[in-house]
Amino acid sequence: MPHTPDHLTELNQQFERGDPQTILRWAVETYGERLALVTSFQPTGLVMLHMLLELAPRISILTLDTGVLFPETYALIERWERDFDLMITRLRPAQTIEQQAETHGAALWSRDPDLCCQLRKTIPLADALRGYDAWITGIRRDQAETRRTSAVIAWDSKYNNVKLAPLATWTEDMVWTYIHAYNLPYNPLHDQRYFSIGCQPCTRAVTPGEEGRAGRWSGQAKTECGIHLAETMETKA
Ligand code: SF4
Repeated sequence: MPHTPDHLTELNQQFERGDPQTILRWAVETYGERLALVTSFQPTGLVMLHMLLELAPRISILTLDTGVLFPETYALIERWERDFDLMITRLRPAQTIEQQAETHGAALWSRDPDLCCQLRKTIPLADALRGYDAWITGIRRDQAETRRTSAVIAWDSKYNNVKLAPLATWTEDMVWTYIHAYNLPYNPLHDQRYFSIGCQPCTRAVTPGEEGRAGRWSGQAKTECGIHLAETMETKA
């Protein structure tokens, strides 16, 4: 569905003050089956998934299975499928970890994490999102400096569709309050100071005083996998 830049600006102003359920309902009514939720089963994604259970129980749910997620993450995905009768689509890279090691050398993430994320995350997501007009993501402005200006709705030039971040204005505390209020299953690693959880080789627990995402690509200049880079959040049609 095409949106003019003015329309996206108008929607952003409206959604900035709107509650996430209202934004999600608008998205479900606007895009129907051409809407997908993309989640890595971190807290914000769990909140949106739970909100969507009532609004759109058959919405497409996509998750990136890089092949090197934590066992706890795989277990959490299976638990949500079982407990909430969901069908979750795993987006997998073209190569297994072993095949990637043969092509690019072992442990590519330690030598060229940008290429590794491109092969295992960005490209599989791009392939999947060609089938949708809009996608919902769980990014929030309080997660990192790179996300401070994230729009609630924007044209995503990287994936050529509309990107929605209905919880962009929420805080970490608001998300956890919701999770506990509804007793939602979450990744037990969060209780061991893994505040942001990605692939196992690129994630560590954070120490007191560190930013939540400091445990991602620790010791490297990289802070984002590339899916949510700021330049993709343009408000244009
Ligand atoms: S987070 Fe690490 S292991 Fe996962 S795709 Fe990116 S570089 Fe590779």
